[in-house]
Amino acid sequence: VFNFNPGPATLPLQVLEKVQAEMLDYKGTGMSITEISHRSPEFDAVVNSAVARVKRLLGLSDDFTVLFLQGGASQQFYQIPMNLCQGKKPAYINTGTWSTKAIKEAQILGKDPVVLASSEDKGFSYIPKEYEVPKDAAYLHFTTNNTIKGTQFHTFPKADVPVIADMSSDIMSRPFDPKPFGLFYAGAQKNLGPAGVCLTVIRNDMLERVPEDIPTLLRYTTQASKNSMANTCPCFAIYLLELVLAWLEEEVGGLEKAEARNQKKAGTVYDAFDKSGGFYKATAAPEDRSLMNVTFRLANEDLEPVFIKEAAEQGLKGLKGHRSVGGCRASIYNAMPQAGADALADFMADFAAKNG
Ligand code: PLP
Repeated sequence: VFNFNPGPATLPLQVLEKVQAEMLDYKGTGMSITEISHRSPEFDAVVNSAVARVKRLLGLSDDFTVLFLQGGASQQFYQIPMNLCQGKKPAYINTGTWSTKAIKEAQILGKDPVVLASSEDKGFSYIPKEYEVPKDAAYLHFTTNNTIKGTQFHTFPKADVPVIADMSSDIMSRPFDPKPFGLFYAGAQKNLGPAGVCLTVIRNDMLERVPEDIPTLLRYTTQASKNSMANTCPCFAIYLLELVLAWLEEEVGGLEKAEARNQKKAGTVYDAFDKSGGFYKATAAPEDRSLMNVTFRLANEDLEPVFIKEAAEQGLKGLKGHRSVGGCRASIYNAMPQAGADALADFMADFAAKNG
């Protein structure tokens, strides 16, 4: 089966096999990792290795702290404005459902967010290119990849203030320069592992902004000072994340190699509908197409349920678009092999020939 679900999403086969092998006896302890104390030397080694791998893969200097938090990426929507505004207004670029939710949380907290640009006028089908970032903004927040709408920032916005990004659906899919970032975060369940942990990377100077009058666990300083273990951490999720990062470093060979693989896979799928003579239609502007979530419609929308059902019968699972937009979506994160993209392209060509 090739799993095109958007998250929780497919994991590398080698990782699943390793988990299966270690589940009854983790490194000679006679227990699984989920049964071992998060304060044990064995688990400490897992967390430290995960932190080291994140730093190596992303090329992070010691100016950054790596955190493994709970509450999903959605918790970051409010934790960020709670911690980092210092009485200034935060600025946002709105490129879809997830940015809209992030803006809403800042509003709920009374932080008065400024929306600098939005692509809502065209159903979030493109990435806005023109906006000016106020020099007195608390930060600039944007979503690097729009999981639902299938668009992606191919170059990142520049600003004189710290940049903050929700990278939930494309972290570790390509290299980028971390220096302009005050913080970036990603729910793990797409490119990093299972649901239950959110990777948050914060630049150390941002920790100085954290106020004292917010609940202890919501202060970034709390988990930063305890290596993400101020309370019981999501042990199993961190363990799996570490294995996925090991696969990325050792099997894939790092982020440049990951990017080349991802470009090839996305090229295969986009080509399939560009060559279909209009049978399939991309929903995202060509220059902003996502390499992670390929969103499309069939010219005859009545055929979409048939397409999704027949694809699933052939082992191509999870091609239904998000319930808010309909249509079809192929999520092709790091762990999707080229063979999955090839199988999808072949199926698309056959289906078009049969039904066109
Ligand atoms: N941000 C993006 C870009 C997402 O795709 C998602 C979930 O799909 C979220 C945030 C929300 O993540 P979580 O479910 O971990 O809160």
